[in-house]
Amino acid sequence: MISALMPNYNRADLAFERGDGAWLFSTDGRRFLDFGGGIATSALGHGHPHLTQAIAEQAAKVMHVSNLYRVPQAEKLAARLVENSFGDSVFFCNSGAEANEGMVKMIRKYHAENGHPERWRIICFDGAFHGRTLAMISATGNPNYIKGFGPAVDGFDHVPFNNLNALRDAIGPETAGIVMEPIQGEGGIRSADPDFLPGLRAAADEFGLLLGLDEIQTGMGRTGRLFAYEWSDVTPDVMSLAKGLGGGFPIGAVVTTEAVARAVKPGSHGTTFGGNPLACAAGNAVLDVLLVPGFLDQVAARGALLSAGLKTLAGEFPQVITAIRGRGLLIGLKLELPNTALQAACLEQGLLTVAAGDNVLRLAPPLIITEEDCHTAIRLLRQAVQELAKTKVAAQ
Ligand code: PLP
Repeated sequence: MISALMPNYNRADLAFERGDGAWLFSTDGRRFLDFGGGIATSALGHGHPHLTQAIAEQAAKVMHVSNLYRVPQAEKLAARLVENSFGDSVFFCNSGAEANEGMVKMIRKYHAENGHPERWRIICFDGAFHGRTLAMISATGNPNYIKGFGPAVDGFDHVPFNNLNALRDAIGPETAGIVMEPIQGEGGIRSADPDFLPGLRAAADEFGLLLGLDEIQTGMGRTGRLFAYEWSDVTPDVMSLAKGLGGGFPIGAVVTTEAVARAVKPGSHGTTFGGNPLACAAGNAVLDVLLVPGFLDQVAARGALLSAGLKTLAGEFPQVITAIRGRGLLIGLKLELPNTALQAACLEQGLLTVAAGDNVLRLAPPLIITEEDCHTAIRLLRQAVQELAKTKVAAQ
């Protein structure tokens, strides 16, 4: 008989009853160091007193009123995102896929409102991941996600990542914009080359296109800056956020320039839950922590500490780990052995990780991890690699 909970995920046979910082405690009495971070989402870890208090207090006052009324918590969160980014205006929604849908709609609407409704196609990149709605599986372009769901939604053209010539070749009279992840997360922690983002900006400006960044995984401090584009001199026209924005509470956002936001007229886009008082209280509590002076430097420092330890480990086991990728606390281990085998070996040692594409094992721990957590993670990872290397030798 089918399980009542739809079996559309490959779940580990493991459930957690509580968490504390970077640690999770399972219902069968074990503890795990959470370096998957709920897939780069639990920015403040588990049971963070400031976040839990903000959610509890807001829930007791008022959770939801609808967007028929002003929502002061949303006004405050939007103002803070604007103050700390390239943006002038913010739309709130509930998930990453929904934020990307909003971003694509806004790119199209900008051109329609500016006399170019024929500009509606979006250039995306091989290896991207933008979510699971009908349009976003087409933006993602991975045939495995599209198969069985009918014809792909039209309007998305794919070119190889980090190839500016291919990008320029793909631009046509119907092209409205470019959407890219500064570091491809699901695709295997593949970073844009230093000249790629500036090259996209230059092409967008030359051809009158909008540049949209999917910072759902890279944003909210994950790379050691509030947004990953800040590592370059480039700013986008539109940016999507979700994951860490609510620290585990579901909320997404589209941040845009004034020119784009002006195209979105009242009534042209919306959502029931988006930007409700509870979700925005969570978002504000996350920002309270991220914006403390020095916090993002600490994220970068923890990332450097982890990467250094991982590089040493890779040097010890070149037959298992061939490269360390990523930035800040979004780190990928490129493997020789199957990533799912190392993920399972880590789980055995009490370390949670996430598999990514390109046979990469991903680490995306809470941003609040301590130096001790980093040392513990490397120790557990070394034990997992040793166990795996042993079984590989035994199997030969
Ligand atoms: N975009 C990126 C870069 C992501 O990493 C994800 C989720 O992994 C999404 C979009 C989709 O977000 P959600 O699962 O919240 O719809």
